Amino acid sequence: MKTVSPQEALKLVHDANSLSREAIAALQKERLTAIVAHARENSPFYQKKYAGLPDNPSLADLPPVSKQELTACMQDWVTDPEFSEEALVTFIRDMGSLGHLFMDKYSVSTTSGTTGEPLRMLRDSRHININGALLQDRLYNSPLLKNFPEILEKKTKFASILGTGGHHAAVTAFEKRRTALEKEGITGTMELLSIGEPVEEMVARLNNFQPEVITGYPSFLQVLAGEQQEGRLNITPKVILCSAEQLTDETRLLIEDRFSCPVGNVFCSTEGGEVAILCDHGQMHLNSDWIIVEPIDRDGNPVPPGTMSDAILVTNLMNAVQPIIRYQVDDCVILHEAPCGCGLPFPYVDILGRTDDMPVFTGEKTTVRLSPIVFLNAVCDIEGLSIFQFIQLDPETLVMRVQYLKDADSDAANREIREKVQEQFVNHGLKNVAFSIEEGEPQRAVRGKKMKTYIKDFPG
Ligand SMILES: [Zn+2]
Repeated sequence: MKTVSPQEALKLVHDANSLSREAIAALQKERLTAIVAHARENSPFYQKKYAGLPDNPSLADLPPVSKQELTACMQDWVTDPEFSEEALVTFIRDMGSLGHLFMDKYSVSTTSGTTGEPLRMLRDSRHININGALLQDRLYNSPLLKNFPEILEKKTKFASILGTGGHHAAVTAFEKRRTALEKEGITGTMELLSIGEPVEEMVARLNNFQPEVITGYPSFLQVLAGEQQEGRLNITPKVILCSAEQLTDETRLLIEDRFSCPVGNVFCSTEGGEVAILCDHGQMHLNSDWIIVEPIDRDGNPVPPGTMSDAILVTNLMNAVQPIIRYQVDDCVILHEAPCGCGLPFPYVDILGRTDDMPVFTGEKTTVRLSPIVFLNAVCDIEGLSIFQFIQLDPETLVMRVQYLKDADSDAANREIREKVQEQFVNHGLKNVAFSIEEGEPQRAVRGKKMKTYIKDFPG
């Protein structure tokens, strides 16, 4: 497939902002035809999957694919004949490779999902450049962040609160930027905070660093907003950027208020890239020139605009090396096709993402409030786990409910879980909290909501 330089990507993305809906639909169609033809020609997986289809199939003709199906046959899915899954696994195990390109051309990330086997994704230069352009044009240069036009300058001080310890897309991107800046001799502008570190320590580091931009999970920023309000944290960021979790209007306004700065939001996924970005009218616009999102119900039927979906099918029109075409994700969204006051032609979505409870413990010295991500991140890369869920029974008791993958070494997994969770307890002054692991079905979600990964099962 044709490569796209960063400059070309930026022009393509920027020009699409003023297209009509019809023109965007035509662009989608053209790009879909190209990616499908490429997949059929170069990916043995899609060759087989699409064997009975006509030469020029429409989107609705293409059978959806699941994560399970794709992870089981990665070697056949990837379109690069030089690719070796074994070499990729070795690359990922080596944490020294963070921020570097696999086979000198692909960026690598793995999903930090809480269900099933992790998915390993390669992104080619086309995907990287278009994704970068989407962020630059529709986030950094958007009217929402106009108060801080210096955001993309090299000297701007970024603090990112991330789940470290794996090749998660955000960590990969952070390390890439840091490596690039260091090559130019610019240091001390990028501060990486791990969500596993004690809140006290994080507060001290942020006070010392005084970031101009903070990026992180909404639930974590909510914890920091509390620290700022109580005066322990004292920073004046110009911009706060959220991603990866659902950001409710309520949380966004709270963070905006405590830090007196605009809060941007990106809905991104390892598979789809930058799916939707918040505009200055408070709506999450799909980047529908590069990503197709189809809301569906439980039976896979399309759901009309204005109605909550049970899942979505995502088609990524950027990634040629590992094509994502009608890939099912269990995100509940409501698609809106009405025009938005900001003037962008793309439809927007309400996203009901993760709706986890916020952990509150009676610690050794004081009450400890944390983001649920602290625990999710601690265990999400442990091998052998299929599904898991934390259930907090009271202020001093935490249970983890687990299902293992077939053929997993459950004893080894449990040992690692205990070790990682205990580490978090030590970090956060919670050595008094009782922890146990039980095998069993998670508590399922109610309709219209995602399964909770952290449940606080007591009042208060
Ligand atoms: Zn808008």
